[in-house]
Amino acid sequence: MLEAPGPSHGCELRHPSSAVKASCVRQMLEVQPGLYLGGAAAVAEPNHLREAGITAVLTVDSEEPSFQAGPGAEGLWHLFVPALDKPETDLLSHLDRCVAFIGQARAEGRGVLVHCHAGVSRSVAIVTAFLMKTDKLPFEKAYEKLQILKREAKMNEGFEWQLKLYQAMGYEVDTSSAIYKQYRLQKVTEKYPELQNLPQELFAVDPTTVLQGLKDEVLYKCRKCRRSLFRSSSILDHHEGSGPIAFAHKRMTPPFKLTTGRQAQCTSYFIEPVQWMESALLGVMDGQLLCPKCGAKLGSFNWYGEQCSCGRWITPAFQIHKNRVDEMKILPVLGSQTRKI
Ligand SMILES: [Zn+2]
Ligand SMILES: [Zn+2]
Repeated sequence: MLEAPGPSHGCELRHPSSAVKASCVRQMLEVQPGLYLGGAAAVAEPNHLREAGITAVLTVDSEEPSFQAGPGAEGLWHLFVPALDKPETDLLSHLDRCVAFIGQARAEGRGVLVHCHAGVSRSVAIVTAFLMKTDKLPFEKAYEKLQILKREAKMNEGFEWQLKLYQAMGYEVDTSSAIYKQYRLQKVTEKYPELQNLPQELFAVDPTTVLQGLKDEVLYKCRKCRRSLFRSSSILDHHEGSGPIAFAHKRMTPPFKLTTGRQAQCTSYFIEPVQWMESALLGVMDGQLLCPKCGAKLGSFNWYGEQCSCGRWITPAFQIHKNRVDEMKILPVLGSQTRKI
């Protein structure tokens, strides 16, 4: 979904020798009973799949294979996930349905093949996610297990990072979690380098337009004019940093550890973008965040990231100074009324 256009030759680039290329393209490896890993050649002849008992195929590639009607393709389950073998490709958003597809097929006694073009990176990442979830394994253990079976298995560092986020979310992609929201925001600068026509779902609903569902949430208002600015669910908490670190998207390890706790050291809230910010954010990399009603300076934003007062870099950053807003608890009985806390 979020990948850039272009050809995909992950395996060939990594293994220029034709011997290695042949082995990584043709072989189909049984990872565990009924679960196979392979490259594009594995689906070239569907009747070979049938012979191995494979009646479910998960393709994670830039192109969908066309299964010819025939004895091998009849009744075949097929899931296609368009993806290039690039670190910036978003696999994370597809992991739940991939893992569910494999699990469902196995539960029905179907043999499953997970394949990409070369059988080295994309398919390895999907199978690793499946092993992580079903065996409750940390990323490193699941990946190691696969690399013992297949020496050339080597996913790109972007996928490694995404699988670590998957683990941090408890082996389920929680799109409302701070981890996922921050991940999605990081993808935006890769997909929309001009920062124009950003998808609307990226912005949190303006709290002045919706009051339903606010129960038990804290509302943050402009200290000067009382205008509602954002809800507590928009805050992307982070662990305190220990000084400057490299920009998040250049790092191989998870760049941020997000928690639900509050840190006294942090003098700002880092939040997801809210609808009223949209006109200020479009087309520019950084700038000020002003109250949409009274124009008071609330904080700043930077798509490349900003450093919190605790030392942690947040990328991208939408920063509201704590001393410019008031926390208001929504009173459940009175609905729209608020009380300062
Ligand atoms: Zn901080
Ligand atoms: Zn204001």
